[in-house]
Amino acid sequence: MRFSIVRSAILGLVLTSVLAACGGSPSSDGGPIPVVATTTQVGSIASELGGDAIDLTVLLKPGIEAHDFEITPADGAAIEQADLILKSGAGLETWLDDAIQTIGGEDRVRDLSEGIELRTSADREVDPHYWMSAPNAILMVESARDALVEAAPAAAEGIGQRADALIGRLEAADGEIRTLIDEIPADRRKVVTDHDALGYFIDEYGLEFLGSVFPSLDVSADPSARDIEELVTLIRENDVHAIFSESAVNPQLAEAVALETGATLSDETLYTDSLGEPGSGADTLDGMLLHNARVLHDGLLGTGA
Ligand SMILES: [Zn+2]
Repeated sequence: MRFSIVRSAILGLVLTSVLAACGGSPSSDGGPIPVVATTTQVGSIASELGGDAIDLTVLLKPGIEAHDFEITPADGAAIEQADLILKSGAGLETWLDDAIQTIGGEDRVRDLSEGIELRTSADREVDPHYWMSAPNAILMVESARDALVEAAPAAAEGIGQRADALIGRLEAADGEIRTLIDEIPADRRKVVTDHDALGYFIDEYGLEFLGSVFPSLDVSADPSARDIEELVTLIRENDVHAIFSESAVNPQLAEAVALETGATLSDETLYTDSLGEPGSGADTLDGMLLHNARVLHDGLLGTGA
């Protein structure tokens, strides 16, 4: 009797490890949970918090703007198999919403913009670039933490500890950004960028948005000659010295505006729609925000390129 219990316990252990080695069903055998993240920002949070507890697919790659995206068949398969799909939300990933309509399983999607106070742009559109302020990024991390803990409860402790560490870094970055921006005199705080993606940063840290080369929140619509002319006039009237381009946007138009006005186009790009490549220092949310603060600080003070 006793022998057979021991033997079946051993058999059970062997079976479990065989199943684990084969991959088995990920959520039921304690293996990594299949998770999809849409943007590089959401992906970096999921990767850092989830660690080994998740098998992560990030749909957007560094350097790609996030508004228009074509899902590949491989992306579709990852979406289909995911237990949890983390999206940035606030109207950014209409391409994911379309895919979910086809694939189904909407209850697997968690929107990290929930509970965040969204701003509207000058043309009354909801501005989806809310991750551009550290306080919002912290709310985003908290939502991702809760969703990941729900999907992978066995890993709750580690997820919670890693979330605390990331929140700590974002709080430190927030303080450093405020110090940097405080060093810029009030009359030099006027910002001209490629596309209107800095609104949350500008509101949070006390800068002033003057205009953007692409007039809308989206970069899919080209500016008209008249839009460019108006921007050139604004730059001249406000004595703006520096224009900033963004990593995921073609800088040609910004270069032309800089040439026309005599303003300097900052050598260093801002990261807005996308984080930087791994190792760039802008490949985490806190790193990206600090990088942007340094580029704006140096460009607006005229101490950088
Ligand atoms: Zn954008």
